[in-house]
Amino acid sequence: MPDGGKTWERAPTLKCAARTDIGLIRSRNEDSLWIDAGRGWLLLADGMGGHSSGDLASALAVNYVLDSLLATAEKHEAPDYIEALAGSVVDANTAIRNAGKQSNAHNSMGATFIGALLKPGEVSYAYVGDSRLYLLRDGMLTQLSRDHTLVQEFVNAGHLTTEMAQYHPYRGLLTRGLGVHDEVEPDTGIYALHPGDRLLLCTDGLTDMVEDHEIAVLLGMPVRVGEVAVSLIEAAKSAGGRDNISVIVAWFDDQVQHDDDRCAAYR
Ligand code: CA
Repeated sequence: MPDGGKTWERAPTLKCAARTDIGLIRSRNEDSLWIDAGRGWLLLADGMGGHSSGDLASALAVNYVLDSLLATAEKHEAPDYIEALAGSVVDANTAIRNAGKQSNAHNSMGATFIGALLKPGEVSYAYVGDSRLYLLRDGMLTQLSRDHTLVQEFVNAGHLTTEMAQYHPYRGLLTRGLGVHDEVEPDTGIYALHPGDRLLLCTDGLTDMVEDHEIAVLLGMPVRVGEVAVSLIEAAKSAGGRDNISVIVAWFDDQVQHDDDRCAAYR
């Protein structure tokens, strides 16, 4: 068990909550998300394509990955989950692509996707697009994912600062997405977790409206996990709520839990 200077007093349980909100401007919610607290699976997707296409693409992404992970869990006693997760993202791309080809109404649909698989001491993750995974440790917020956007490439090349990128007019232009091309390569990572760490998965409806330092404060609030999720949604709406907003908040805790802490409903 990694301690990071601290240790668990008893076996930790995962506390997690997911919330999504249509925001204040959009007429549809095109985000999809799923949490399985028992297995420690957190999945989130942000659809694009307009009309009913965005909803469909993000739902396809989440459902496809979930089904694929469940099939892997059934087939193997000790599966390589990060490999399974990455493989399911590639397959979800094909599924969205094929569904788009079969219908003129959906031929331009696509989605971002980020999935995190948690166990005490470790998070594994895979993603495509600009939905993000953040880690809060000792008050410091770190983005574990790296946006697949044109603006992020400018940042990587030293042409833009992170601060300039946050307000850049082209910040939404993706360099990778599900359903966009016949092939896609998800980025993956595995990160050691310490007691006290908190994780956040979110769509750009949060990060376009709320700055990282405010996210850090809200994510670190000493309240129940569901209340943290609600406060993040409310912060994005207070700032204008221009897009759909989705968040999944999760952390391991070895304290005696309240019944409604472990895993709150996601809508
Ligand atoms: Ca969005």
